Amino acid sequence: MQLLLKKLIEKNRDWVNHGKAANYIPELNKMDSKNLGVVLVDTGGKVYRAGDYQVKFTVQSMSKPIVLLLALLDNGEDTVFKKVGKEPTGDPFNSMVKLETLNPSKPLNPMINAGAIAVTSLIRGKSKEEKFFRILDLFRKISQNPKLDINMDVYLSEKKTGDRNRSIAYFLRDVGILEGDVEEILDLYFRQCSIEVTCEDVANMGMFLANQGFDRGSGKNIVPKYLTQIVKTFMVTCGMYDASGEYAINVGIPSKSGVSGGIMCAVPNKMGIGVIGPALDLKGNSIAGIKILEDLSKELKLSIF
Ligand code: GLN
Repeated sequence: MQLLLKKLIEKNRDWVNHGKAANYIPELNKMDSKNLGVVLVDTGGKVYRAGDYQVKFTVQSMSKPIVLLLALLDNGEDTVFKKVGKEPTGDPFNSMVKLETLNPSKPLNPMINAGAIAVTSLIRGKSKEEKFFRILDLFRKISQNPKLDINMDVYLSEKKTGDRNRSIAYFLRDVGILEGDVEEILDLYFRQCSIEVTCEDVANMGMFLANQGFDRGSGKNIVPKYLTQIVKTFMVTCGMYDASGEYAINVGIPSKSGVSGGIMCAVPNKMGIGVIGPALDLKGNSIAGIKILEDLSKELKLSIF
């Protein structure tokens, strides 16, 4: 396995030259777009690493399925899906175009920014700090890494430049999807996106979903299986934004990407995979990361279809 991962990194390394690191969040543009790393964790907890797997990066949109899990635990399906839909958009992750044309004005799914901000607004807690701590605590548990924390530079950079997310959030309050203090909700969203991880953390998070909510740390199921099924289904239909259909055909693994260039994969009952490759394609997904996953899926027959 180790050799296979190494071989796939070498084979696909050149793809890093075909994309660019995100620049709309200035701090993300400082990432080295030449990096490419992968970590795979199997059900027995065995870990395989290759390439630039030690690189640290922020979870960005990979936070969306995890925060959705917490919102579902906190509120139940009915409340969550009153605020956000279950359908793919076919539009970019930060698009606002359908918000006004659809009736009711409800974000189409929890994997686009509009839907994720609505989901974040549902996290319970007495204060902003308690809400964020509950999010961070879940990330720490499922990544098997009690040291996870925010990258302050990325958080402040996104908070300063996040006007598109701000527009989306104020619009959502106007139409009654968001309730309460918009700046506080946005702050929580920017924080969740800025949690810093490595490929191994991401592979463990994927493994948690692959393992139907079983927490290796405590040896218990900490999330009901059916909720992890909902989340993995969104990862299939919307996890790679408007490239989800092509990705489902070529890779066929429930996955979620982030603009940092990370991809979190959950191969049901088999393994979790974490990939980093900050060079992105035009849809905001890691260009070399997807190539590696295409090869890996074929080599190991990982497609769920
Ligand atoms: N923090 C990013 C944003 O809101 C997350 C987007 C992403 O990873 N695609 O724009």
